[in-house]
Amino acid sequence: MKKLSLTAAILATTAMATPSFADGHLRIVDEPLELTIQMNHARYPIYEEDWPVEQVARELTGIHLKNDTVGANMRTDENTGRTEALNLMLAGGAIPDIVGSSRIRDFVNQYGPEGAFIPLNDLIAEHAPNIAAYYATRPDIEAAVKASDGQMYYIPYLPDGKYGRAYWIRTDWLDALGLEMPETVDEYEAVLRAFKTQDPNGNGLDDEVPFFARQWPELIRLVTLWDGRAHGSDTYHDFLVEDGKIGHGYLGEGYRDGIANLARWYSDGLIDAEIFTRGSSARDFLLSENLGGSTHDWFASTSGYNRLSSEIDGFEFKAFAPPASPSGRRIEEHRRILVKPDGWAIGHTNEHVVETIKYFDFWFTEEGRRLANFGVEGQHYDMVDGKPIFKQEFLDAGPVNRSLYQVGSQLQGRGYFQDYNYEIQWSNEFALEGIALYDEGDYLIPDFLGVAFTADEQKVYDRTWGTIRDFMLERQQSWILGSGDVMADWDGYIAQLDSMGMQELLEVMQSAYDRQYGG
Ligand code: CA
Repeated sequence: MKKLSLTAAILATTAMATPSFADGHLRIVDEPLELTIQMNHARYPIYEEDWPVEQVARELTGIHLKNDTVGANMRTDENTGRTEALNLMLAGGAIPDIVGSSRIRDFVNQYGPEGAFIPLNDLIAEHAPNIAAYYATRPDIEAAVKASDGQMYYIPYLPDGKYGRAYWIRTDWLDALGLEMPETVDEYEAVLRAFKTQDPNGNGLDDEVPFFARQWPELIRLVTLWDGRAHGSDTYHDFLVEDGKIGHGYLGEGYRDGIANLARWYSDGLIDAEIFTRGSSARDFLLSENLGGSTHDWFASTSGYNRLSSEIDGFEFKAFAPPASPSGRRIEEHRRILVKPDGWAIGHTNEHVVETIKYFDFWFTEEGRRLANFGVEGQHYDMVDGKPIFKQEFLDAGPVNRSLYQVGSQLQGRGYFQDYNYEIQWSNEFALEGIALYDEGDYLIPDFLGVAFTADEQKVYDRTWGTIRDFMLERQQSWILGSGDVMADWDGYIAQLDSMGMQELLEVMQSAYDRQYGG
């Protein structure tokens, strides 16, 4: 009897998981087919076969992915874009049937034309109607995905929505000190200084941390407050494009002036003394402890901290418009990029490429896209008036992004098209108000969508970029921490970069850009 009810419970669960599309129309193979996968991402270093989302995908398509991840403990570095696990996999000589990773684009666009990955153009045209339909509407994104030989070698993660990060500030601290919302960089500095010196948390201690960030490159982004540029895309330290010309933020005079000011802010205690080391828990810790004053971070997740008002009397953390630079410019450098360098590809030894591209296409069907975005119907969301609506207990279970990763949704190592509706559901009034403010001000600027190199260009890039980037980051951090003076060091810094091949690198970036986007 006990056994029977257990079976009944399992059946009920299975039925609940796939109520509306259990008719088999998404089936790719009659007999279950196993494909191996390498999957790396900072938040999920291996592919988990028991993710609820994967179990449903298996049931619907007949394709069973088997984890075969090399270098599971070598996480992709989101700050530098290094992909050690992918390199280790390649060095091992065995490429699984499917390779999914953050920062996969440069890797497959280099090794795909050399034969390590399957070219996808014809496979998409013949077997992936949903992916093809997407590209038919977005030829610019199709161009951005292609390698130098004109082939696509990966199916990308395609973010949805426009806005990513914003400036945030403790408005109750402003009120406590009788201050207005800062509109210019000078006013912002005055506010941060008041946070530092006037005890806005009211505990009698000099313990406030005026500006903090979960990712230290967000500090560098503040150079935009002095007309500098930092990150040309949502990849930190990326090149930038302005009027069809490739450049780099860390070469500009606005950057130089910005770093000089940030060094001064750091020295004056306006910036978290542990900005380079505190890491991803900075926001959670400094807000929960009533210590942090201002940051630059994502709308939806940051707005959620207003729940702290139940513990911290008067707590209010609101988005504010980018402060104007001395020349009067207000820009928000970060936006949700149109196409990520993340996604998945087909390894060259894969003997089921047609089934694999059909499987990739599954995630672009209505049902697959919903699964990739919202999790499993009945477990994580319900259909209400034809729309997936998260269950309240799922929303209440902690940060929604984290919960989704834990069930196998919103994986950036999977090629899929995000649905912004997944995020609106947990964007509270503070996020929506902030987004409206940013919409009104039109602060966003164009992103650099990246380039793919020829073999010769790749050689220049490989020879120069790693050492150039490391040198720029080392100098940048030293200047902010007070070792050296950026104004005095600047000419030598630029000369050093040129001697490391910076101009040559910019030339190959430009030629690749012109080829890719028809400049
Ligand atoms: Ca205090």
